[in-house]
Order: sequence, then structure tokens, then C-alpha cells
Amino acid sequence: RSGEISQRLAKLNPRQQEAVRYIDGPCLVLAGAGSGKTSVITSKIAYLVQECGMSARKIAAVTFTNKAAREMKERVGQLLKGREGHGLTVSTFHTLGLNIIRGELKTLGYKSGFSLFDPEDAKALLRDLMQKDAQIDADQINRVQSQISTWKNDLVLPGQALSHAVDEDEQYAARLYEAYNRHLKAYNAVDFDDLILLPVVLLQSDPEALARWQRKIHYMLVDEYQDTNVSQYLLVKLLMSERATFTVVGDDDQSIYAWRGARPENLVTLGEDFPRLKVIKLEQNYRSTGVILRAANTLISNNPHVYEKTLWSDMGPGDAIRVVVNRHEEAEAERVASEILTRRIKESAAWRDFAVLYRGNFQARLLELKLQHYQIPYKLSGGTSFFSRNEIKDAMAYLRLLINPGDDNAFLRIVNVPRREIGPGTLEKLANYANDQATGRGISLFAACHELGLEQLLPTRAVERLGRFVHFIDGVRKRMDQGDAIAAIREMLRDMDYEAWLHQNASAPTVAERRMANVWILIDQLEKSMQRDPEEIEASEDTETDSVEAAISRLVLRDILEQQAEEDDSDRVQLLTMHASKGLEFPHVYLMGLEEDLLPHRNAIEAGTVEEERRLAYVGITRARRTLTLTLARQRKTYGELMDCTPSRFLDELPEDDLEWEGRADKENPEKKQARGQVAIAGLRSLLD
Ligand code: ATP
Ligand code: MG
Repeated sequence: RSGEISQRLAKLNPRQQEAVRYIDGPCLVLAGAGSGKTSVITSKIAYLVQECGMSARKIAAVTFTNKAAREMKERVGQLLKGREGHGLTVSTFHTLGLNIIRGELKTLGYKSGFSLFDPEDAKALLRDLMQKDAQIDADQINRVQSQISTWKNDLVLPGQALSHAVDEDEQYAARLYEAYNRHLKAYNAVDFDDLILLPVVLLQSDPEALARWQRKIHYMLVDEYQDTNVSQYLLVKLLMSERATFTVVGDDDQSIYAWRGARPENLVTLGEDFPRLKVIKLEQNYRSTGVILRAANTLISNNPHVYEKTLWSDMGPGDAIRVVVNRHEEAEAERVASEILTRRIKESAAWRDFAVLYRGNFQARLLELKLQHYQIPYKLSGGTSFFSRNEIKDAMAYLRLLINPGDDNAFLRIVNVPRREIGPGTLEKLANYANDQATGRGISLFAACHELGLEQLLPTRAVERLGRFVHFIDGVRKRMDQGDAIAAIREMLRDMDYEAWLHQNASAPTVAERRMANVWILIDQLEKSMQRDPEEIEASEDTETDSVEAAISRLVLRDILEQQAEEDDSDRVQLLTMHASKGLEFPHVYLMGLEEDLLPHRNAIEAGTVEEERRLAYVGITRARRTLTLTLARQRKTYGELMDCTPSRFLDELPEDDLEWEGRADKENPEKKQARGQVAIAGLRSLLD
């Protein structure tokens, strides 16, 4: 083993080796994009297991997105053999938090089978609470929601929020924060921010729990450290305590989540909190050609810097960066799609070698149409993902209600799906009954259905229908408890003939069939994720009893950042937002929409946070290994109106000599040129088929 690991280490440069070998204290690797930070993490995991004899079970590696976690898992999987990797945690911060909560449910005062509210559920709850007060609009709800989220990320508890509030709006939000949390607790539910907040509060206040988790996790590695927020930082700090056995890697130039509470100052705080911190800087970039790297460096030099970094590459200069100006957004999408089609053949590349990155998901819509037109297989991360499909939300609501009958949101979503003739009037009365303040009642809708008192409020038929519904769900729950939970769930879907309901509501039979297939995919996924349990940290005592629950929670959690669709490593063009592209790399990258108001985004320009947008552009550019193409449109539809666009200021900040402009001065009639392109493509396509 030893020989193998030293062979692998020999492939790393001396600084990387130093970072891998340093295990006596806290270690920070601070370096620019593509310099091998993530590689240090994966090699170090292997080193800890194979060379230091540490059990993989005691190692936790965390990163930022599900996609990144999956990639890291794969990379580590190639290094560790057989059982060596057993019990290793490679996850997002949120999944780590979820595991801790699951292990400490009782200590935290939750019942087993708690629900995880996704941002939509949380919004629905807030809307209910706010409607009691006054006329409210969607904007207000969003503001309150993000304020509460900010407080949670900054570790401000409901009781403290009022004293942090600086104006009336925030005072209002602070009062709602209390009510919101109280209701979450009553639903036996937590929201995404709680996944970090609750463990931190617990570990701070309960020395026994702290000792338990410090025994479980001996070494932590954190990727994309610049994007951790206050509570995530505290989680690492608490778990590692005086031992300070951790390695974090990051790049302050890639901090792009300030809006979610990320605090790049955490890089500085780390040095203050851990005076023994060893800081290692990496300078060689192994990813990109010289031209791409120079563009990235030049762009980011327009931002102020805490740490000066230099990055060089010995990959040779490579191709110039192309800047393609298009007549309008449709031409832009057309251009990207048709180019990928031709370049795939010219460069004998695979589809997966191409990535198209953009600022906002809406930019993907036209592109999708064009890709479909050319029959180019693609994978869209985020946007209207798997998990935001209606049929999946229905199925998830059933799953959530099955593990937590107290989940009123889930109840309301599916009580009448498929139709059970339970009308809004009935539900309103049921809700009033459940919330009856006068009697001090405060029970879930599901529980209320069981109550005899209902008969005085509702017509017999309505009571019977509600009764049939809860009886049905109770039956499924019982079957789940008794044996094969997944089989019981599949049976439930067939028993209620969800497919027939889909057919009633679909424009065509094939649509309904596809939707039903999605539901089966979800259930298969659930089954798979139950089998995958050993990969997670073994939570305390009651792990094996709630594995369906854990698996369902994990499914909800997949939604977090980039709303990852199914794992899919087949050969497809990747479409993703720049935010979701962090940590990834592709031979050929297209960056779309380099226009003022889009990149940098108008909100950022108005809020004076263009520096963060510049970092975002830096992240996008540094994903490219061999070629980089920047595209923009001269006109774009905004709020239904065709507006003239101004090229992004970031284009002016790139080294002029490395750029190859196309379509800037109208030398050629763009329509004619495009038509010609299409003919050529049609020809190519027929050759391929
Ligand atoms: P980012 O900041 O974008 O997350 P990173 O610093 O994490 O980048 P990696 O993804 O670890 O960089 O590495 C970038 C590329 O360089 C990968 O393809 C990796 O395999 C390769 N690489 C890393 N270290 C070396 C090395 N010492 N020799 C050769 N290739 C390397
Ligand atoms: Mg990385």
C-alpha cells in the first residue's frame, strides 16, 4: 500500500505533497483555480487511510454542491480499494448536518420521521403566517424568507433577531422568524438552514453530544472553503476543536455565494482562531491553456485582494479566446448549438467535453430548443429539474406524509391528488378545527381527520372521504413498518392509480407515461439510496430503523443548490449556471450572455456588488481546459420587449491581444452567414445519421 501511495504522491508537486503529508495540525491550502486543491483533498483522504492507517469512517470531506460531492466521491473511489473506503463521508455541508440531526433527534427534541422543508414549503408556511397580518405580496415573502435565512446562517436565533433588526421591516421579519420556527417545530420539520444551525447550537450547548461527534469524526477536509458561511465555519471549528485536525482548501477569488451568507473573511478568521494554521499556496495551474489562464488572471486583477496569488501554466498558449457577437438571443443559442455539433466532429470530441455556462437558468430555454432541434444530447443542471416536476413533487409529498403525518404541507398537496372530492371548504374547516386556539388544540391536519369532533363541523360524506384517505395512508404506513417499505410504496402508487390521474391531466398519453416513468425513477432512486447507507457516517443508535426516512430526507436534500437531476454520466453536453459549475472542468467551454445587466447582473450593478460578479466570471472562465468561447447578443427580450444590449465591461478587462472577435463590425450580413451555417450543419447531420 505504502508503495502505491508514494507513487501517487510523486505525481503531485512538492507543495501539494506538503499539504497532503501535513497532518499534525490545521492546514489551509489557498490557491487559484485549477491548481490542484481538490486533488490535494482526494489524495489526502487516500493518504490518511492507506499511510496513516486512519479508518475511513472517521474522515469527513465536505464540499459545496451535490455535483461536486459526487465528483469527489468518484475520484476517491478510484484511489481506495474495496473496504478501505467503507464508512467514509463525502458530502455537502447540508448532508453532514442532516446526519448529525438524525443521530441526535431525541437530544434535539424532534420525533423520528421529521420532515425537511424545501424553500418552497418554507415559503408556503411563511405565506400562511403573513396572511394573518395584512395584504402581502410575493416580494415581501421573499424578503422575509431571505432575512430569516441570513439570520440562520449568521447564527442569530429567533430570540436574538429582534435586537439585530435595524428597521421596521427587519423587526417584522424578526417576529415572523419566531412564529415560523415555532411552526416548524410543531410540524416536526426543519428547513435547509436548520441543517447547519441545529447541529451547531447543539454542539455548542451540549458537551456530551460534542464529545460524541468529536469521537466520530477525527479528520475533516473542506473544499471550496471560501464559500462557507458563519454557521458552517462554526460546525467545522466545533467538530475539530483543539485537535484542529483539518485541511481546508479555497480560493478567495472564487467566492460567489455572499448572497447566501458566505463569508470569505472566514479565510482570515481561520488564521486568528488557529494560530498554528499552516498555509500552503499552490501556483501551478494544470487545467487551462496559457491564454485562458491569462484572461482569468487579468480579469480578476481588477478586484482588490487580501492574498496575492500567482498562477502559471506550462500547457502552452493554446487557442485564442473567441468572442462571438450575435444579432439577438436566438441567434446566440443557435450559434452555440450548431457550433457544438460541428466542433464535436472537427475535434473528435465527445458531447460531454462541451459545457455551456450562463448567469441565469432562463438563458437555457432557447438553447435547449436548439439542442433538441439538432438532436444533441444534453444535461441541464438546475432550472426545471427533475425535482420541480409536478409528478415528482406529488410523489415526494406522499413520501413525506408517510414518514411524518404531521407534515401539513405534504398533506395539503396530495389529499386531493388523485381526486378524492375533498373540497377547499372541507379543508378550511379541517384546518380551523386542527388549529382551534380556543381549545388549545394544535394538531396536524392528518391527526385531525381521526377526531370524532369533526362530525359536528362537516357533512358526513366529507368526514367519510377524509377518513378513507387517512385510513389509506395509515395502511401503507403499516405495510412499510412490517416489511419491504419500497414495495409498500410501489403498491400504494398502483392502488390509488396515480397513473390514471396523470392520464386525465395530460395533453397526450405519452406525456402521462413519461411522467409516470419519472415517478418510478424516483422510487428506484429511493431504493438505491437506502442500499447506499454505509457511505454515510454511521449515525448513533437508531440508524437502521429509519433508513426509509433517512433516504427520503436525502432525496429532499438533493434539491438544495443546483437541484441536481438524476445521476447521469452518459455522454451529454452540460448546461449549467456559473454558480453550479464551481470545481468542475471541461475541455470546451461556452460562456453565454456577456452583456451588461446580465453579467454583471443588473441587481449587482445596482447594489454595487460587481466584484462578486467578476469572481463569477472568473469561475466560469477557469472551467475551460482547451478552448473558451464567449458569446453575447446585440438584442435581447427583457420583460417582453426587445432591448439593445451593451457588451459586458468584463470583455474590456480581458487582454485584447488574446481575443478573437467575430461579428463585432458588421462585415457580413449575419443572416446570410447563419443560413449558410445551417445548410452545412444539415449536411453534417445527414452524414452522421
Ligand atoms: P478549482 O479551483 O477550479 O476547484 P482546483 O484547485 O480544485 O480547481 P483540481 O480540480 O484539483 O484544481 O485540479 C485541476 C486539474 O489539474 C485536474 O484535472 C487535476 O487532475 C489536475 N492536476 C492537479 N494536480 C496535478 C499535478 N500535480 N499534476 C498534473 N495534473 C494535476
Ligand atoms: Mg476544486
